[in-house]
Amino acid sequence: MPSSYQGRLRRDSASPHDVSQSLDSNLAKAVSTVANLLEKKGGDIVTIRPQESVATAVTLLCERRIGALVVTDAAGSLQGILSERDVVRELAERGGATLSLSVADLMTRKVVTCAPDERIIQVLQKMTDGRFRHVPVIADGALIGLVSIGDLVNHRLRELEYEALKMKQMIVG
Ligand code: AMP
Repeated sequence: MPSSYQGRLRRDSASPHDVSQSLDSNLAKAVSTVANLLEKKGGDIVTIRPQESVATAVTLLCERRIGALVVTDAAGSLQGILSERDVVRELAERGGATLSLSVADLMTRKVVTCAPDERIIQVLQKMTDGRFRHVPVIADGALIGLVSIGDLVNHRLRELEYEALKMKQMIVG
């Protein structure tokens, strides 16, 4: 005879957190990915070639009101990243001569990237660990987007607001 359904009890589980934090973990599963963010933001990436001048890069950063440029070669593959911080650091050391250097002279070559299926909080962790605010998104070896700390924090805040609303609805009914 089939036994009637019984909800999970604390003693059913090896983990002491399973029951008391079930709402928490259900919400954590809903935490979205970089792909979800790109669906809303779009995959627009402002790129520059390594041989371009820093002056051109600065103009592009200002015109597009962004903090970093993804450096790609003619085939579109990732060569590095140039952030406003790289330019400011060099300006402090070298002054105006910085502007005639090439992007290749200042860019960071070892770029930390992420995949579209990575969770937003994982990418925020990468940024915190590496102390940078931009991460290119790579899928199947191709560059498909760039996420900034602002994009991630905004997305996460909207998600937290939604989660809070859902919890209120669960409590109030
Ligand atoms: P940011 O905070 O992104 O403006 O950059 C701070 C420093 O980290 C600069 O030297 C950048 O070239 C470098 N940087 C930015 N993004 C990345 C990344 N995804 N991987 C590695 N270095 C980066």
